[in-house]
Amino acid sequence: MITADRVKTYINNAHTVICSFCCSSYYVIDENKAICNRCEMPYTKEQISDSYQSIVKGALDIEEEDKILKRLGELESLYSSSKDIKALYIKALLEIKLSNIYLKRIAYSKEGFMEENAKLRLEATKLYALAKADIIRFIESVDDASDLAMYKKAIAYFKLNNLTAVRYYSNKIDDIFLKSYLKMLLDLTNGDKKDLANLSEWIFSAGSLNGIFYNIIALIKQERIDQADKLFKVYKDIGSSSDIEKIESMIAEYRSTYL
Ligand SMILES: [Zn+2]
Repeated sequence: MITADRVKTYINNAHTVICSFCCSSYYVIDENKAICNRCEMPYTKEQISDSYQSIVKGALDIEEEDKILKRLGELESLYSSSKDIKALYIKALLEIKLSNIYLKRIAYSKEGFMEENAKLRLEATKLYALAKADIIRFIESVDDASDLAMYKKAIAYFKLNNLTAVRYYSNKIDDIFLKSYLKMLLDLTNGDKKDLANLSEWIFSAGSLNGIFYNIIALIKQERIDQADKLFKVYKDIGSSSDIEKIESMIAEYRSTYL
């Protein structure tokens, strides 16, 4: 079980690193087992240029539609001028985010305005198609056969929910940590709840705080809400705002359905 004390011990022993993809900072103990909690790319010692940082930093935390659209344009220009494929991955994640924002608006307005809903659905579909194109450009540019490269392709496909591709690239990975991390993501969608609980705890024990996020989801799926709540209280101080929001809505949904 992941307890509050274990998390505290982890934080006390950890240091922070900056993700070379999304430029956010996160806690790690072992840099070889470090996966960013925002974009889920593994840590690399790659130098981040000031121009990259100025456009990418904070991009994934933007919530307003007009600001996201503006940043998407800037990310495309960044890619055009630098040919840095990392910018494409971040751009795709932001496109998926905006697509989901549009879909959520439909859900909230439900029977509301048909025309408005049709427009939102069209915009959401367009953005998702753009994300898919960017992810494919990203994947095609990753051209070595290392475990790290295979993981990058797998995680990019995971963001598009293409689990067959995730499984395909995962099978090419020898590194136990990276392979297990991907297995945990596969379990999240169509695996056994108990496997997800065990594997996420293992990921945490192996060195990544991200295990906590998936462990909380596993606890909710197992209907162990009190336990999930306890761990969530600790996670709130370290998790990203979107992860925290996701867990909050899962707990609220559970409570409104079962309690
Ligand atoms: Zn990142």
